[in-house]
Amino acid sequence: MIEGFETLAIHAGQAPDPRTGAVVPPIYAVSTYKQDGVGGLREGYEYSRSANPTRTALEECVAALEGGTRGLAFASGLAAEDAVLRALCRPGDHVIIPGDAYGGTWRLFDKVYEGWGLHYDPVPLGDLDAVRAAVRPDTRIIWVETPTNPLLGIADIEALAAIAHAAGAVLVVDNTFATPYLQQPLALGADVVVHSTTKYAGGHSDVVGGALVARDKEIGDRLAYHQNAMGAVAGPFDAWLTLRGLKTLAVRMDRHCDNAERVVDLLLSHPRVTEVYYPGLAGHPGHEVAAKQMRRFGGMVSFRVAGGEEEAVAICDRTKIFILGESLGGVESLIEHPGRMTHASVAGSALEVPGDLVRLSVGIESVSDLLADLGQALGG
Ligand SMILES: *Cc1c(COP(=O)(O)O)cnc(C)c1O
Repeated sequence: MIEGFETLAIHAGQAPDPRTGAVVPPIYAVSTYKQDGVGGLREGYEYSRSANPTRTALEECVAALEGGTRGLAFASGLAAEDAVLRALCRPGDHVIIPGDAYGGTWRLFDKVYEGWGLHYDPVPLGDLDAVRAAVRPDTRIIWVETPTNPLLGIADIEALAAIAHAAGAVLVVDNTFATPYLQQPLALGADVVVHSTTKYAGGHSDVVGGALVARDKEIGDRLAYHQNAMGAVAGPFDAWLTLRGLKTLAVRMDRHCDNAERVVDLLLSHPRVTEVYYPGLAGHPGHEVAAKQMRRFGGMVSFRVAGGEEEAVAICDRTKIFILGESLGGVESLIEHPGRMTHASVAGSALEVPGDLVRLSVGIESVSDLLADLGQALGG
């Protein structure tokens, strides 16, 4: 009986190829499958939008890692989110989203789904009373991110699941930042986990993808139906790259956390840094909840600087190892200015982020090099 996380990451859904013994699932670059007589499908494979063996391997692996009954792989994280909303909501329904939701998630709700009659309210999910007050009779989903992007806010998954279920709603958790290695939302009561596998799951900044994992069969079947009916599936090469990334997820996450902790120490001691956002800090408002539901605190760190927006932008231009770029979760360290980059689309909305904020995705390079690079970029 296999149940260790690292073992599942390497073996779940990935039995050696029955024909050749290849120890890695082949890339099945194929659209259709020979039938042994009309309707005589081999292992259910008929057409690759419906199912493809390389994608099946990835889907079984993510389902095992999240402890769900069904995993589904999509062309992007946003395609996965779109499938959840269309499978579970109807026009007139209401969704609660995090007060500092990922910008693309907010844009999907605000600019796309409002036009189709799905309404949303951004609520600070760390405040359970605010969530209870925002729940309406037509609330269909409470949509959770924890930690959030870019302010690393923490939400109590177990408490939110209780609120959602009491209201007859579904709890969806975007587990992109934590990954199943650090946090297991389904075990805490969530119904669906969403991933941008573009980030830590893939882990090498070489593929865009998304995934869903359902706790129960009924929701899993509905999501699978929509995956096929809507068609935004992961291609076989993308599925293969993501699966290769997943094999090392645990060791990468531990190093991301090690390095992030050292970066946090440097930032805390720097005179020009005015605030550091990291859920591992005892003074972080969500620290206790994070310590309860996360194994460690992840590789994302945000901070504010004394010199305001111009200084924050200048720091982003001065780093040499931290690459200036959007996205996160790859082996290489990235730096960005959320206000002008990832979160530019939420300017002027309730989700606007401070101009003096810098976000780091701390990679797995030698930590001494990362600390030296940040030190020179921050200046004396
Ligand atoms: C990147 C991201 C997404 C969107 O995923 P894509 O793969 O870019 O479509 C959703 N949620 C979070 C938290 C993300 O970081």
